[in-house]
Parts: sequence; structure tokens; C-alpha cells
Amino acid sequence: MNVPLLDLGPQIKALRSEILQAVTDVIDSTRYILGPEVVSFEEDVAAYCQSDFGVGVSSGTDAIVMTLMSLGIGIGDLVITTPYTFFATMGAVLRVGAQPVFVDIEEESFNMDPEALDCILRQQSQHGGRVKAIIPVHLFGQCADMNRIMPLAEKYDVCVVEDAAQAIGACCPMTDADGTVHWKKAGSMGLAGCFSFFPSKNLGGIGDGGMVTTSDTELVDILRSCRNHGAQPKYYHARVGGNFRIDPVQAVVLAIKLRHLEDWHSKRRENSQTYRTLFKEAGLLHSPVELPHEQFATVPGAENHNHHIYNQFIIRVPDRDGLRTFLQNHSIGSEVYYPLCLHKQECVQEYNGQKFPVAEKAAQESLALPVYPELTKEQLSFVVETITRFYTSG
Ligand SMILES: *Cc1c(COP(=O)(O)O)cnc(C)c1O
Repeated sequence: MNVPLLDLGPQIKALRSEILQAVTDVIDSTRYILGPEVVSFEEDVAAYCQSDFGVGVSSGTDAIVMTLMSLGIGIGDLVITTPYTFFATMGAVLRVGAQPVFVDIEEESFNMDPEALDCILRQQSQHGGRVKAIIPVHLFGQCADMNRIMPLAEKYDVCVVEDAAQAIGACCPMTDADGTVHWKKAGSMGLAGCFSFFPSKNLGGIGDGGMVTTSDTELVDILRSCRNHGAQPKYYHARVGGNFRIDPVQAVVLAIKLRHLEDWHSKRRENSQTYRTLFKEAGLLHSPVELPHEQFATVPGAENHNHHIYNQFIIRVPDRDGLRTFLQNHSIGSEVYYPLCLHKQECVQEYNGQKFPVAEKAAQESLALPVYPELTKEQLSFVVETITRFYTSG
């Protein structure tokens, strides 16, 4: 049996004729940059993500770069994030000339540890207040603990830019000042949310694409102008932006796929649940396979945990690399997200001596298994059986 890490084939096959028609219409329109298809898709995503506005951009990376530029963040400024995320999060900070400041992650969720964040914010506030933004990453499709991160950001007057590249549609419970709980979508809690439509994300295009969501009327104007070289009006540049535009071909494909997103999310969630059950039945749970938990929060009348969209399903295991090779030899795809923490990367040698033990341990133990919606029960069983064989056959 063959179980690839991700197979986009079934998705495209099911929507092929609808997508071809929509793309053909764009081609025939001869309007190839931004335009009404992009505006309509921006409205769809904003509504889905509980935000007032969406600004379509060229990639998830550009979404972050452009948001930082629009907030005037640059040389001399500090931006807090975690060292356990895709390179783009840190790359965006460095590219605008700012300096990343890392805080460690929580063992259970792989996301920013609010206590560590509190500690850094307190320290930095005594050193001239150079921290201009916090970028919590909703890693693998699960929201960071925004219920604790947002009050800290407010206390220290630092804006929050959510890296929601892996988490479109994920949500988490947020408590009001008066104690009322609201379920909030990824990208709607901070000042801005950054999304990626890279093909392997839960909502993926047929090429690169991204989106910034915000409900701030001032920021949205700056974002729109920044996307187009800072022009406002055309050929008049009050600021320097870039070419960060999305094209209507991506917009029409993504708009079609967006209508199926909730269904795909639920299938990924079902597959994750099946893995949990199968690992438990195999007697592998906790020794040696650990399944990181969703963060728990009790909410009356709602699912009693964080709504995870499982862009990745992660296990933590001993001899991770040995297991990966074994799976490969049995035609099962898996991937290591991420083998080297950001503070250990060669391009930031000045950070290499810093220590983030929880992130470093995660980088050694984590392995992503296939979890895409169209996987069969047989394929899931085969994955768990193969892992069981690896750990029980000496
Ligand atoms: C995918 C991803 C990005 C970048 O998105 P691109 O569209 O590939 O540029 C940024 N941050 C995280 C956490 C991601 O997973």
C-alpha cells in the first residue's frame, strides 16, 4: 500500500471542470492582475475568518512582510516570535530590517508559551520599549493561546500579527472582560492575520498566494497601497511598498475550494481521531508514541477544546529519523517540521548560542504523518501498523 504525505489529486479531480471554467473565464477577460475576482475572494475570506477586510497578496511570506512594512516596523525594532516555525516568520522580520526576539514554545501545542512571552515583554519594557510586534504562529493548524497572549500585548502596548499561514478556519475560545466566552477564528484576534495559499495548506491554490485579514480601517488602506508599491493614487508614492499582488487565476480557484474547506477540515479531524484510537489500541500511546494534545478550555455548549484544523498531524517519538526511513521503505510519506530551530540557522549566527529547550526537543522528536482528507481507513491502519512494527520488532 502506498500512503503519500499529501495527495492533491482527488481534490482537483472532483473540482476539475468547475476550476477549468473559472480559469478560462479569467483568461478570456484579459484582466490578469487584481480585479473583481480578487475583491470577491477577499470578501469571502474576510467573512470566513471573522474579519472586516481581506487583502489578497502574492504569498503567505509576503503577507507577513507587507504587514510589518505597513505597520512601519523596521531598523531598530524588535519583533517577538517562536524559534519553532517555518523560516518565513523570521525571514519576514529580518527582511524589513527588524530583529527577531525568540520565546520558547509550549510542549503540548508547539505554540508560543505565554509565560515566556510575559517574561520577555517585562524585561524589554525596562530597556526602552523597542518591541513593536508579537507574531504568534498557529502552528500545524492549531491556535496559539491567544486568550493569554492578547492581554499581554495590550498591557505592553505591542501589536499582534498572527501567522495563520497553517490555520485558516482554526478557532479558539477568547474570554471577554466580563467573562463571556467567544469562539474566534485565526487571524481575527490580532491587529492583522497572515494566511498562505501555498498548495499544501488546507486551502491551497494552483501556485503561490496569500491574504492579510484585518478589521482596522486605517491599516487596510495602508496594506492595499503597500501591495502596489505604496501608490495612492496611482503613480504617487507617499511610502515605499512592493509588488505583493495576488492574481485572479488564484482567486477564482481558491474561491471554489473555499466552499469545500469546512468539509475537508472535518475529514482531517476525523482522520486525526482515527489515529488517536488506533495508536491507543496498538498500545503505543505515550510509549513510545506521544500525541501532542490540543489545548483544553471548557466552553459551555461548544466543543471543549481548541478547534484544530490539522494542517499537519504530529507525533513525537524516539528514534524519529529511524522511523522516518522505515516508513519511507514501506511507501509511507512523512516529514520533519522542522529539523532545525530558527535560532540555530546559519543565517543568524548571532542567535546560535541561545537556548530554547522545548523547541529544540520538538525539532528532534516530531514527525508529521499523512492526514489529508481523502485518506482511507485502510491507509490510516497501515500507517499505525507499520509504526507499531518499527517499535515492537526490536
Ligand atoms: C507556509 C507558511 C508561511 C509562508 O507561506 P508561503 O505562502 O509559502 O509564503 C509562513 N508561515 C508559516 C508558519 C507557514 O507554514
